[in-house]
Amino acid sequence: MPEGSGEHVSVFETANAQFDRAAEVMELDGEMRTLLKSPFREMQVEIPLRRDNGTLSLYRGYRVQFNGARGPFKGGIRYHQDVDMDEVRGLAALMTWKTALVNIPFGGGKGGVNVNVKEINRFELERLTRKFISRIGHILGPYRDIPAPDMNTNAQVMAWIMDEYSGRHGYSPAAVTGKPIALGGSAGREAATGRGVVMVFEEVARREGWDPRQMTAAVQGFGNVGSHAARFLSEIGVKVLAVSDVSGAYFSEKGIGVSRVWSHNARNGSLEGFDEGEKISNDELLALKVDVLVPAALGGVLHKNSAGRVKARVVLEAANAPVTDAGGKVLEGNGAYLIPDILANSGGVTVSYFEWVQNIQQFTWDEERVNAELAKVMARATTQVWELAKQRSVSMRTAAFMIAIERVAEAERLRGI
Ligand code: NAD
Repeated sequence: MPEGSGEHVSVFETANAQFDRAAEVMELDGEMRTLLKSPFREMQVEIPLRRDNGTLSLYRGYRVQFNGARGPFKGGIRYHQDVDMDEVRGLAALMTWKTALVNIPFGGGKGGVNVNVKEINRFELERLTRKFISRIGHILGPYRDIPAPDMNTNAQVMAWIMDEYSGRHGYSPAAVTGKPIALGGSAGREAATGRGVVMVFEEVARREGWDPRQMTAAVQGFGNVGSHAARFLSEIGVKVLAVSDVSGAYFSEKGIGVSRVWSHNARNGSLEGFDEGEKISNDELLALKVDVLVPAALGGVLHKNSAGRVKARVVLEAANAPVTDAGGKVLEGNGAYLIPDILANSGGVTVSYFEWVQNIQQFTWDEERVNAELAKVMARATTQVWELAKQRSVSMRTAAFMIAIERVAEAERLRGI
């Protein structure tokens, strides 16, 4: 249940409600609907961790392979105390629609461990990661299922995953993406999700006749996605009035210096103590009078209660599932323009695909090429979604799902059920 919402919401139910609306418009037959909403394989494992103080902690790890009709399962691994099977299943479903929408040859998967990373140290984190991979490794692989970073996992965690997997199968950089560059990671991967968020926004703005230089934004979350999204937004002239992380939000009517936030975050490992502007709560950030609200942290933050307080006219969904189904109805009812997650944050998995391609071909691209290819994919997907939404008079989300569902359904039909 999202905090303060009083609304029972599961990420999987949210993803399915979004699916159903698109399936209805497409008049998709009932059998295909049932098939496409069913996860292919779900795995749950116990992860015992011997702590440095000698005690034993038990965690639960999950990997859901939702749909692989269009290629190997693809999706991040999240470390968070609230991770459970429903969340991982819902995020795996969203990955299926995301990879299909940007038309890269992958299916959808997701993984997670219910660990609070603040409670364990770096060495314990490494042991936990290796144990998790040793227990799910037999369903992973470059042509089976390829993990990537998500909340609280990063290039270092991906390096341990690659090492653990390679120890059993031989050198396998293509088994995981989001790796450090020294181990076969791609130039541009770290910034790719945030960069893609802003590329999608720019394309929508161009088509809608908005001038980014006249617009203001608030960004929730200053991790991989939020920090880069804030940087690229300010680079195209959007004035960023507020940023936040788990420590709270920082707001200035005159605009926050994004590069100063970056330096503070790099020095302190969090925004805590940032002394520019006024400190407000994350809830207050969501209700700020800005043009663009960018939720880039947890899912479910814009639920039926908080959505009613949103004053932004554009919600740019950088996080996965930041808007619940009821929250979406409230926002749309109030005339907000929603740029859906499966489009807005698809830059990360797109560059993960480029990383996989480079690993398989053993040929590296420079950052210029990565960014140019990313720009092409983001512009193509945004154009397709925007045009279909106009043609069929549906939301951008429904249009995005329609395109994705059509592609996965076609692959299912062709492969034979
Ligand atoms: P991250 O761990 O790098 O950063 C998360 C940020 O959110 C941190 O700044 C953290 O302090 C902040 N945060 C956590 N709880 C918060 C709260 N209650 N209120 C405000 N801020 C809070 O994670 P990330 O990789 O940036 O992922 C963020 C979101 O984007 C997730 O929904 C993730 O699934 C999605 N996403 C990530 C990628 C990727 O490539 N990393 C790709 C697509 C989508």
